[in-house]
Amino acid sequence: MSNVRVRFAPSPTGAPHVGSLRTALFDWLWARHTGGKFILRVEDTDQKREVENGLELIMDSLRFLGLDWDEGPDVGGAYGPYVQSQRLPIYQTHAKILLDHGAAYPCYCTPERLEQMRRDQHARGEPTRYDRRCRDYSAQERAAHERAGEARVIRLAVPREGKTTLHDFVHGDLTIANKDVDDQVLLKSDGFPTYHLAVVVDDHLMQISHVMRADEWIPSFPKHVLLFQAFGWDVPLHGHVPDVLGADKKKLSKRHGATSVLQYRDEGYLPDALVNFLARLGWSYDDKTEIFSRAELVEKFSLDKIEHAGAVFDAAKLDWLNGYYIRQLSDDALAAQVLPYFARAFAQPDPAILREAVPFIKDRIKKFSEAVSLFDFLFLDEVKYDPQLLIGKGLDAASARAALVAAHGTLEKFSAFNDEEKMEADLRAAADGLQIKYALFFGALRVAVTGKTVSPPLAPSMRLLGREQVLKRVARAINFLDNR
Ligand code: GLU
Ligand code: ZN
Repeated sequence: MSNVRVRFAPSPTGAPHVGSLRTALFDWLWARHTGGKFILRVEDTDQKREVENGLELIMDSLRFLGLDWDEGPDVGGAYGPYVQSQRLPIYQTHAKILLDHGAAYPCYCTPERLEQMRRDQHARGEPTRYDRRCRDYSAQERAAHERAGEARVIRLAVPREGKTTLHDFVHGDLTIANKDVDDQVLLKSDGFPTYHLAVVVDDHLMQISHVMRADEWIPSFPKHVLLFQAFGWDVPLHGHVPDVLGADKKKLSKRHGATSVLQYRDEGYLPDALVNFLARLGWSYDDKTEIFSRAELVEKFSLDKIEHAGAVFDAAKLDWLNGYYIRQLSDDALAAQVLPYFARAFAQPDPAILREAVPFIKDRIKKFSEAVSLFDFLFLDEVKYDPQLLIGKGLDAASARAALVAAHGTLEKFSAFNDEEKMEADLRAAADGLQIKYALFFGALRVAVTGKTVSPPLAPSMRLLGREQVLKRVARAINFLDNR
């Protein structure tokens, strides 16, 4: 049995960002690759930043991507609870252990004093950090502060001397001087732990073997390693994974467009496409392979191929991949996927018509939502006409009208619209009769039937729309030209 245990530890602050889910995917892939466990832990100790359905949004995003977890708030597990706000006594007990060993100390400094201290340090051009005033209090001094009932936090007593080496399997080793590390707060005056205490205690108690998290946590890493050491615990393996960047090489944010996986789901991206895409943000197998099924990713994923430079989120590549995965779907599956988009746009779209229509758009759409604008004419009662489109570039109003009248006359003779070849041949003959080029003739008819100059192939579109609707629309288009 593998003893790999990795965790995804988001804070419930909203729909998780694609960058955060990319890290979750790396965790999941490593767990599945090694036969280890993937754990979901909610880091909700900063309750100001929390949103109400935050956990649901996290779980929905993971479920949509198919990243199943072995332990977590909903499924439980041997190391719970998996929600940090339910673990407060655990953090308090652990802060006490450090206090009792002299590895931590109470600090009674007021926010005003700390603010003044920072301002002074800043003015002197020094790094801003706690000046350790409360660290060397005698037992009597401490007792006096306690008697006065002053609010206190617990700080880590970072060794004043020596060096600590941080191992990072993405970035390599880094050695830091302990004197440069702040005496961080572990427990706040309200009894809540800081992120630093909670993450170290939980990663230890939950027996996490590998910590993967965003680059932005690198500055906190020395604090965590010193804290593991203060407890006398082994430090799990850590790897800080690259940021996901926008095309401008700045950290991906709302300004670059959609950043939540749920938005991508709603626009009609497939989980397999997103998983394939996200896996390649900061990881590569070789210098050429782009398409990886989920099973291939699980098989091939390895920590040594995580890159350290930021990974650019290329929306065009995501579209390309999604198009690829859409083409792998059966027509039945594609029809089922696009149906909800039509159901949102139209009262009662006929699934049978949609099922017949999808083969014509399979190669064209990059996401399911795009299907609606290609096929809206099948479900609209009436299409809207733009005179410029109806007349077209190479025709005038009179010749466009003549073309539509001839098309109407030709189509009317068909009692059903199922012989596409014959309909096309007869329409061509009608164009010949008027000496109008096919492209122009069919162009006018296409606009009359669909309202657009670009549509799926015309004959099948007319078959799907049916005789009555087509004739009605062509007649309306003629009328429209007459009454412009
Ligand atoms: N709660 C932190 C976050 O959401 C977790 C960082 C970590 O994985 O340690 O970024
Ligand atoms: Zn203090």
